[in-house]
Amino acid sequence: MAAGGGLLIDGLRVSVEDREILKGVSLEVPQGQVHALMGPNGSGKSTLAYTLMGHPKYHVIAGSVSFGGEDVLALSADQRARLGLFLCFQYPTAIPGVTVVNFLRAALRGQGKELPAREFLKRLNDEMAALKVDESFRSRYINDGFSGGEKKRSEILQLAILRPKLAVLDETDSGLDVDALRTVAEGVMRLAGPEMGALVITHYPRILEFLKPDRVHVLHDGRVIRSGGAELANEIESGGYEPIVGEPVAAGVS
Ligand code: ADP
Ligand code: MG
Repeated sequence: MAAGGGLLIDGLRVSVEDREILKGVSLEVPQGQVHALMGPNGSGKSTLAYTLMGHPKYHVIAGSVSFGGEDVLALSADQRARLGLFLCFQYPTAIPGVTVVNFLRAALRGQGKELPAREFLKRLNDEMAALKVDESFRSRYINDGFSGGEKKRSEILQLAILRPKLAVLDETDSGLDVDALRTVAEGVMRLAGPEMGALVITHYPRILEFLKPDRVHVLHDGRVIRSGGAELANEIESGGYEPIVGEPVAAGVS
């Protein structure tokens, strides 16, 4: 077992449709820390998130990923979840017919962490109050017709109920308003502690107004090219990515 657990990515190379996207990513998130992974559009951030999730389209060519000393790449997606990895989708899927409350109960049960009904409902109500979501939220079908902000609240609610050891959140680079960014950042900061760390993936330095990461990493062209403290995010906020990556970067979204 690795001392202290945590996520350890070493020399990870990943291809999508025969094109190499990640070209040797090395990154460590010690248990309980909050790290931000930033980078220009197309740098491979979502590819890393999908690879951690075990998406079949993303092929690992080389390198390793371990979590709490376990070989993540050898595990199925549900085994990864049971290990304590929580991976948010950038575009979460709607499941008509499955309510938020049933989804959360089933997810807890799937991880062998089922609670007695009364305790579960109390926790759910407390967390919903903390997130300022209406009571009707729990009887709605998960992600079905949810606004961007509601999807983010549902994501944070899942975190609050499931209490994973590490939450990996891939933030969409466009279409998230400041309130939604703030919901995610404040939710992560409220829940983070020795028991739960987070890897917040974002293009957008703005989220870091609300999120105080222990470390910031910059991904460019499939490699981590800089790591530093929160000041690195300020550098990106004021000067953009170009001075850091040393070449022009596309301004658009991907
Ligand atoms: P980021 O999240 O940093 O914007 P991505 O990981 O989404 O970057 O994309 C990195 C590169 O990989 C881009 O050039 C993108 O076109 C390519 N890519 C990512 N996913 C796929 C996919 N499913 N099919 C084809 N190309 C992909
Ligand atoms: Mg992305």
